[in-house]
Amino acid sequence: MDKSKKYKQARERMVEQQMRARGIRDERVLQVMLSVPRHLFVAPDMRYAAYNDAPLPIGHHQTISQPYIVALMTELLELKGDECVLEVGTGSGYQAAVLANIARKVYTVERIHDLVVEARQVISELGLDNVEVLEVDGTLGLPEHAPYEVIIVTAAAPQVPEPLKEQLSDGGRLVLPVGGRMGQMLERWRRNGDDFDCERIAPVAFVPLVGDHGWESSESRSTW
Ligand code: SAM
Repeated sequence: MDKSKKYKQARERMVEQQMRARGIRDERVLQVMLSVPRHLFVAPDMRYAAYNDAPLPIGHHQTISQPYIVALMTELLELKGDECVLEVGTGSGYQAAVLANIARKVYTVERIHDLVVEARQVISELGLDNVEVLEVDGTLGLPEHAPYEVIIVTAAAPQVPEPLKEQLSDGGRLVLPVGGRMGQMLERWRRNGDDFDCERIAPVAFVPLVGDHGWESSESRSTW
C-alpha cells in the first residue's frame, strides 16, 4: 500500500478511536483532523508514530500535542469560519494548520527560532496562506493585530496572561492550560464586556509558557 493511503487510513482510525469515541462532536473539527497530514509536522524518523494517541517530541525539549487534545481545544474555540485567531505556542505548526482550515486568519507565535523556521516551511508547503508565524514572546499577545475573536495557548501558563485578556474581543473565547509546572487545568475563558467567565474543562500536562507573563524558564517534565 502506498504511504499516503496508509497515512489516510491512520487518520481515519485516529478520528474514530481517539476523537469520536471520546466525545468530539463538531463535524468541522473532525473533518479537519481527517485532512491535515500530522506526519509532516514531525521528523521523518517519528512519522511511524504520527497518528498515535500521544504527544511527540519536536526538538528543543518541546512537543507536538496529543491529537485528541488538539481536537478538544479546537472544538472549545467554537469556530464558525470568519474569526481572526491568535495561537501562542506554534511548536510544530500542526495546531495552527488545523485552525487555518476553519478560521479566516491565524497568527501563531513561537519563542524558539528554529521551530518558527520549520513551522513556516511546512505551512507554506501545505499552501496555507492565511497563517502567519511570528517569533515573539506570546505572553504579551500580539497587540498589532488585536483584537482576536479567539485565542489559544498551547503551553502551560501559571496564570492567565493579562495582555491576552485585553486582546480578546467582546464575546471572544480564550482556551489555555493554567496551573503548575507538572499539571494544569484546561480552561475556557469568555469575554463579556469587561467581565470574564471561566469554565474548567479537564486536567492536562503541557510544557511551560515561558515569558514576561509566564514562567521564567522552560525546565519541565510535562510532555503535552
Ligand atoms: N501547538 C503546538 C503544535 O501544534 O505543535 C504545540 C505547542 S508545544 C506543546 C508549546 C510551545 O509553546 C513550544 O514550542 C514552546 O516553545 C512555545 N512557547 C512557550 N512559551 C512561549 C511564549 N512565551 N511565546 C511563544 N511560544 C511559547
